[in-house]
Amino acid sequence: MTNETSDLAPPPWLDAPWAALQRAREAGRLPHALLVAGPAGVGKRLLADLLARSLLCQRPGPDGRPCGGCQDCHLFRVGNHPDLVRVGPDPEGKSDEIKVGSIRDLIESEGLTPTRGAHKLISIDPADRMNPSAANALLKTLEEPAPGTLFCLITERAYLLPATVRSRCQRLALGLPDEAEALGWLAGRIKTGDPALLLRLAHGAPLRALDLADEALLARRDAAFAGFLAVGQGERDPVAEAQAWSDLGPRVSLDWLGGWVSDLLRLRTDGAAGYLSNPDKRGALVRLTGRLDLLAGHRYLQRILRARASQDSPLNPQLLHESLLIDWAHLANKVS
Ligand SMILES: [Zn+2]
Repeated sequence: MTNETSDLAPPPWLDAPWAALQRAREAGRLPHALLVAGPAGVGKRLLADLLARSLLCQRPGPDGRPCGGCQDCHLFRVGNHPDLVRVGPDPEGKSDEIKVGSIRDLIESEGLTPTRGAHKLISIDPADRMNPSAANALLKTLEEPAPGTLFCLITERAYLLPATVRSRCQRLALGLPDEAEALGWLAGRIKTGDPALLLRLAHGAPLRALDLADEALLARRDAAFAGFLAVGQGERDPVAEAQAWSDLGPRVSLDWLGGWVSDLLRLRTDGAAGYLSNPDKRGALVRLTGRLDLLAGHRYLQRILRARASQDSPLNPQLLHESLLIDWAHLANKVS
């Protein structure tokens, strides 16, 4: 979001979940724990923050929007509101888990009682990173909620949370907007690149499209795609290309690679496929389709998707890139 005023209203595709939260609030039926789930870039954090801000604000508007001018709104804005506690993986830590100590600290030293108003908000983000002991410690708290306390568990992968935790939360599932609505919202917010292309690359998620509007990142994608093509055409050594990908985290590289291979499979089936994730690469991808065996291509895509699903496990990105690019070279050059 680009300015203070737009921060105070949900984007249009979140109007319905926002209105539902406000109705629950007015009826005194807000849950003690919300599970805000949905794909990356749909606005989970934005909605949870807006709710927190709305509950902490001294003078929220009739639609629940925070006023933006009171002391609580100010404390929120500067990231210093005592009744908003954020729990996440330790940025200095070796693993990206949320450990049990973070949850115990929250319960014991932070306390769960509001200090300024009627509400205390606790955001656990990404909630799926809680290790089993952390989830267990949280579970005890969810079983005996403190009055006025609202936990917001934010996750792209709700299925990774223990069923016992999930069942104690009210689920708020956020879905992607349609393309026209998303493009309407992106217009004026994206200064670099083509909004329609960025939205495709973001798999339809508007906030992710905003993050992708970065010249250096787009240039990096072009370079990685050129390498992918060259490996597929037998003109570049896959291990050398994996080396060149060493600056890419698996989250980015697997997303790109998966998108290229999905598009190749779409084009292999229907050379005039209307929808591509990478419409700007259509010509180059079409030229590669002749090299692709459909069944082997689908198996390769499954491999990428499995690697993407397990990307948080401790896995060497260099080895992963090498192995995937070697497979790609075999597949496209029919060596195996
Ligand atoms: Zn306010």
